[in-house]
Amino acid sequence: MIRWLKQLLSWRKGKNQASGQQERFPLMARDAWCSVCRKTTRFTRIWRCAQPLSSCSLCDLYFDVPELVYGRTQPACPRCEEPLEQPGFDYGLCDYCGSKFELVEGTKPGLLPNRQQREEMKKHGRSWSLS
Ligand SMILES: [Zn+2]
Ligand SMILES: [Zn+2]
Repeated sequence: MIRWLKQLLSWRKGKNQASGQQERFPLMARDAWCSVCRKTTRFTRIWRCAQPLSSCSLCDLYFDVPELVYGRTQPACPRCEEPLEQPGFDYGLCDYCGSKFELVEGTKPGLLPNRQQREEMKKHGRSWSLS
């Protein structure tokens, strides 16, 4: 009976970890340069990515082997091309336009274009880049 209970508890613990609750940690709001608004704006929603995401935040595609998806310099979802957050980096949403940026101390934030922004770029023959 006790052994069974232990198994159940460890299974639940493992399941909680797999559900990805620790993938993101919220951070303090700060001001940052938004290249879409072309001005310094307030970023209220900021978080740090703690581990590779186990699924796409846009289309919910589950990554069986995150290492494969993350093995590229600019990781993106293989299905919808949504740029993926990378562990150890900070991310934030512009309060004004809602664009998502990778926030790196001392440099201009790099845009992680959403689907609409990516389509706009394709129309103009540009591919997106974090640099
Ligand atoms: Zn903005
Ligand atoms: Zn996706």
